Amino acid sequence: MSAAGPPAVDNEGARSPGGGGAARRIGGANSAGPSVTDYDVAIAGAGLVGLSLAPALVHAGLSVALIDRADVSMPDSPPAGEGWDTRVYAISPGSAAFLESIGAWPGLPADRIAAVETMRVEGDTGAILNFSAYELGERALAWIVEERTLRAELVRVAKAAGVAVHAPYALDALTWSPDAGTLHCADGTALTARLIVGADGLRSRVRDAAGIAAVTKAYGQTAVVANFNCEHPHRGRAWQWFLDDGGVLAWLPLPGRRVSMVWSAPDREARELLALPAEELAARVASCGRRALGTLESITPSAGFPLQLQKVPTMIAHRVALVGDAAHGVHPLAGQGVNLGFGDAEALAAVLRGRGPLTDPGAPLLLERFARRRAAPVLAMQTVTDTLARLFGATSPWIRAARNFGMTVVDGLPPARRFLAHSALR
Ligand SMILES: Cc1cc2nc3c(=O)[nH]c(=O)nc-3n(C[C@H](O)[C@H](O)[C@H](O)COP(=O)(O)OP(=O)(O)OC[C@H]3O[C@@H](n4cnc5c(N)ncnc54)[C@H](O)[C@@H]3O)c2cc1C
Repeated sequence: MSAAGPPAVDNEGARSPGGGGAARRIGGANSAGPSVTDYDVAIAGAGLVGLSLAPALVHAGLSVALIDRADVSMPDSPPAGEGWDTRVYAISPGSAAFLESIGAWPGLPADRIAAVETMRVEGDTGAILNFSAYELGERALAWIVEERTLRAELVRVAKAAGVAVHAPYALDALTWSPDAGTLHCADGTALTARLIVGADGLRSRVRDAAGIAAVTKAYGQTAVVANFNCEHPHRGRAWQWFLDDGGVLAWLPLPGRRVSMVWSAPDREARELLALPAEELAARVASCGRRALGTLESITPSAGFPLQLQKVPTMIAHRVALVGDAAHGVHPLAGQGVNLGFGDAEALAAVLRGRGPLTDPGAPLLLERFARRRAAPVLAMQTVTDTLARLFGATSPWIRAARNFGMTVVDGLPPARRFLAHSALR
């Protein structure tokens, strides 16, 4: 892997507010030897999960470096009411509370967020399952937020907290000593830390370097995403249709008369959808969604994401912790991937904050505590999403009848519905 040129460094040598170890620079940009800088924690990957973890660790009294091969800057704010991001996330109330605790929620512009107040799920033979925030005593089942908007706020918070951001900084190799791990960039610069966090996505370089082998299973589906104006108001409702070809079509409410679509379609159909002109795609999406919101009009180009289940045997290794997609890949039918990642970030920060007399953030005891905390939620989410994807992908008439019957039964049992919804909320 090649480096993307010399890294620009912000906030280098920042001291953590809690009095934790300050970054130590050995060598320097202009010295003859390689430049090495030493931190308590170095996070590889400034996706949403790495960006949320970094300030949470600074608040835990640690010096933190964050690297990414791409530029880590605040994207320009979109013009009011225009330029909707194709990538949107359903953020659970549990994740929103975590983002609030690091100061990244209150600053999100209210006119770019939509509350999911109700959700209607339809099976492929007409079974229906309804969820309502009101019934659960919640303001929203989830909040729909654009990637760009959330990212801008997380970058602002991370920089304000004093996180040392090294970007663009393409990770080339990792080495370990008993006391530290070192991230090497191909231009000779290096970052040393007592704990290395892999937040570098599904194809994690940190995970590979730590010798953790991921098991990957392609779903044979691609998620096609696009945004639309809709004829009728959505009234804060999200829709999801399980289709008879195993696909899943979801509409998520955006502010105003707009929806964001995630259509997890069999690969061949996804290729067709991605090749359609905008008006034809809008007509096809409206008709597949039973014209629940009348006619649709495309407002963004479509984009496709191949889907896979990815499991790792462990989230930790010597001076390594994995978070986010580096630690688990799930089907997006439950909209929970980044929520699971925020859960990892929150748990790791809580464990390191409660480290007591242990001064070493890479101590095996702390890493094992983190891994134990995350084992059950990650396994549960992977099992539920994978089972649903396979159950609704099966074509046997018996399984079809059983899955639709199951939905109808759950819909008629408010406690079962509440149990399912509460698990997703947190
Ligand atoms: C269609 C679709 C819809 C989805 N909808 C939802 C939803 O509604 N709700 C939800 O919770 N989840 C959703 N997800 C899942 C969500 O997108 C992911 O779980 C989430 O983006 C993972 O974030 P991350 O920070 O772990 O990884 P990533 O976003 O992949 O970030 C990894 C970062 O690491 C950097 N990096 C990688 N390699 C290197 C390297 N060698 N050197 C330096 N930097 C490197 C990358 O540049 C990147 O910035 C959806 C997924 C898909 C495909």
